[in-house]
Formats: sequence, C-alpha cells, structure tokens
Amino acid sequence: MSVIPDGYYAVADPDNPDVVVCQRRRSKPKPSVKTTLHGELGPASRCRSKNTAERLAWWNELVAAIEADPRGAMKRFADFTGKCCICGRKLTVAASKFNGIGPECIKGWLQ
Ligand SMILES: [Zn+2]
Repeated sequence: MSVIPDGYYAVADPDNPDVVVCQRRRSKPKPSVKTTLHGELGPASRCRSKNTAERLAWWNELVAAIEADPRGAMKRFADFTGKCCICGRKLTVAASKFNGIGPECIKGWLQ
C-alpha cells in the first residue's frame, strides 16, 4: 500500500458515483500511521453502513480511488470546494484555482 501525501482529496462515493467524497489526509500528529487515512469526511458523504466489513470495503475503495490518481483527486477537491488541496484555505487567485493549490503551498509542492 502506497503512502498518500497529506492534503485534501475528493473522489466519487463508491456507493453513489454522483456524490463527491472529500477526504483530508493527515499523517501528523501520528506519523507512524502512514497508510491509514484519518481526518474528516465531508461535506457530501460518509459511509452509511453500520456493518464494519462494509465500512472497511467502502473505505478501501476510497483509498484505492485516491491512490489511482492522487493529483486528480486533489484537483477535484479544489474544483469542488474552491479551496487549496493542501491547507484547505480558500483560493482567490485565478491561477491558484486553476492549479487547485495556493501560492504558499505550491512552493512546498514543487520542492
Ligand atoms: Zn494551501
């Protein structure tokens, strides 16, 4: 399982392709949990199933969708929310909106 960089991602809900699921990926403050996604789900959806196995399957599909195209999922988040895919701050400049990432964060991205 690959490590997904910290940031915000949006992928289609595995149970409902019309709904976009936004996922914040954060390795800190628990950097040891590198392959576990944690953070907030929202605003559109979270798995509604109460069944643990179903929730896990849903979660794995979500992770697989992000891993398949992390940059695309980040851009989708920015397009969907109008926020930076790294820090979640609102994007105001056209170039930032186009990139899906704010001027401060893109410096880190390019390093
Ligand atoms: Zn940012």
